[in-house]
Order: sequence, then structure tokens, then C-alpha cells
Amino acid sequence: MNKRKIAILGSTGSIGRQALQVIAEHRDLFEVELLTANTSADLLVEQALQFDVNQVVLHDEAAYRRAKDLLAGSPVKVYAGKESVVGLMETMDVDVVLSAQVGFSGLEPTLAALRNGRPVALSNKESLVAAGSLVMRLAQEKGTPLLPVDSEHSAIFQCLQGQRGCIEKLLLTASGGPFLHHTPEQMASITRAEALRHPRWNMGAKITIDCATMMNKGLEMIEAHWLFNVAPKDIQIVVHPQSIIHSMVQFTDGTVLGQMSNPDMRIPIQFALAYPERPALPIPRLDFAQLGQFSFLAPDLERFPCIRLAYEAIAQGGNLPCVMNAANEEAVHAFLREEIPFTTIAKAVEATMAVTPIVEVPTLEDIIVTDREARIRVQEFLKR
Ligand code: MG
Repeated sequence: MNKRKIAILGSTGSIGRQALQVIAEHRDLFEVELLTANTSADLLVEQALQFDVNQVVLHDEAAYRRAKDLLAGSPVKVYAGKESVVGLMETMDVDVVLSAQVGFSGLEPTLAALRNGRPVALSNKESLVAAGSLVMRLAQEKGTPLLPVDSEHSAIFQCLQGQRGCIEKLLLTASGGPFLHHTPEQMASITRAEALRHPRWNMGAKITIDCATMMNKGLEMIEAHWLFNVAPKDIQIVVHPQSIIHSMVQFTDGTVLGQMSNPDMRIPIQFALAYPERPALPIPRLDFAQLGQFSFLAPDLERFPCIRLAYEAIAQGGNLPCVMNAANEEAVHAFLREEIPFTTIAKAVEATMAVTPIVEVPTLEDIIVTDREARIRVQEFLKR
């Protein structure tokens, strides 16, 4: 394949750092054009120098000044603010944009990259949850590829390569998180430290809490609905605690294809960046003789109500998934600040969904207003 120019939005986060590990393995295949971060100026500067990056953006003003000082005398251009990211996405000539920011803030840069006809490797699932119809319509209008980075969606995408058969159903696997076997009483007293200890995957704080509540699987069900155009009723969540099968597709002839590997995000990241090539990766191989047993069970919607809320949100549609996402982001951050109990996260999301006016066919403006108002409403709920 020709050498690809990559922009990484959110390069100091977990996905961004692992993407740079992939790129370091294949300096002949990839070059990095742009890196962005919120506040981590020192790490961003280190990455920029290591990978000979031409441009960097810091969202935070103080972090921007720090990076500017650190890069004084170097050829790296330094920009400030989220508007700069959107501006660069609208004009930049790169082969792939890796959208790896956390949360709703990933939406506008993703839309700008698609509008500019740049293929997007999408790790930011919140942008599809909040504005799936807008994102997919834009990608289709522009004929711009949207490549999944989330491990489950990459698994499904890999299972669909070269397939002509019709999809009957998607089987979205879930590790079940650290509280799979907790009683309802135990759920009420979960601490921040316990929730941040995920049994299989090493990830950022927000997604780790989403895994613990299983909201992550709800967000991923909505993400899968948009990416693969499969009705939510045909997307089944299956708990698979070993996290070896990353998801499966059932076809209309009864065949089920799945994708397996040790849990390592570098595989789906590389698959998206190098698509349709599959370069080598030196990560631990599966040893089936050592694996022992695979197990599967249905998720418990009583103890993990966030899954039910996600199915309700996408069934209603319109701006409701955006409300759910915004309320969840705020509640997760309140839990991470140790202001609310673990079980209040789902209650806050449900209460916010119940009081928000529905907009059936939201525009981007509607989505931005919905997100802002949902955050205010959930904060009011959390104060009570
Ligand atoms: Mg995932």
C-alpha cells in the first residue's frame, strides 16, 4: 500500500497512544500529519517530535502556551482550541482521520472530516450515538468511508469482508465488566477504584466506567445499528467473560462468523488505518490448548439497566440517544469525582430521558442544543 498520512484526534488518550504504537511498528506504511489533545501538552509534544508531526492542536489555552514554549524553534505548528481542530479537518489533506476523542466533543471534528471527504477511523462512539443519522447521511452523500475502531465493530466489519450473504443478526459480545456477579446490594456500594479495575481491557476512565455499568454495550448497540444498518431488535448482546470473541455475525443461512484474538486494541486500530491491508502485528497469539472454556450468558437487565435504556432510546430515536449520551457523560464524571453512588448513574440517565422534549428529526443545531440542555437537566437531578 502507498504510505498513508494520518491525523490522530485525541493522541494522548488510550486509543491515540496505541495508534502511535501501531504506526511505530510500520513507519514505512504511515506518517503522522496532525496530533491533537485536550490538556496533555508534554506528552503531545513528545509524540510530535518522535513522529515528525507537522501540526498539533491543544484544546486548552494554558496547555497550548506550554506546547508553544516547548516547541519554540521547531518546525511544528501549534494551534489552540477545538475550533482549530474543526478548521483543520475541513481543509486538511490526509488519507485517514483517527477520531479518538472521548465523548460528544468528537462529533463536530468527525463531521468536518467527512464533509472534507477524508476517511474516518471512528473510535469516538458517542458521535454516532448522539447524531448517527447525521453522521451516516454525510458519509453516504460524500461517499466517505467510516471505518470502525471499536473492537466489537471491527470484529463485525472483519466478518463482513467478502460476504454476499444477508445479515440476520449481530451478536455483540461483552466482557460483562468487573461487576458481572455482584448482587443488587453489592452494586449500591461500588467504589470508584473498584469500577476502574476492568478485568480484560486497559482503557480510559470514562469508557471503563461505561463498561462497569454496561452502558458501553448500549452505546455500542446503537453504534452497530448505524454502522451496519441493522435494526436494534436484531442486535443481541451476549456476555462472553473471556473477551476472546470480539463479536459475531449470523447470516440468513444460519452460519455464524466471529473474529477472535487476545484482547488488544492495536488489532482493530491497525485494521482501520491499513484497511483493506492486514500488516503483521507482534502481539501475543491465542493458544487454544491453554484457553480452556469459552462461556456465554445473557446480560441481566435488572442489574444493568443502562442496556435497557439504550434500547429504549434508539427505539424512540430522534434526539433521545443524544440525551442518554449527554446524561451518561455527566453522571459518569460525577461518579469519577466521587459525588454520586454507582447505581445513581443509570437513575440519572433514565430521569433525564423522561423529562427531555423529543425532537423527531434533529438537525445538528438541535443535537447541540439537546446535548447542552440534557447536561443541565442531569446536573439538576444529581444535585437533588
Ligand atoms: Mg468496544
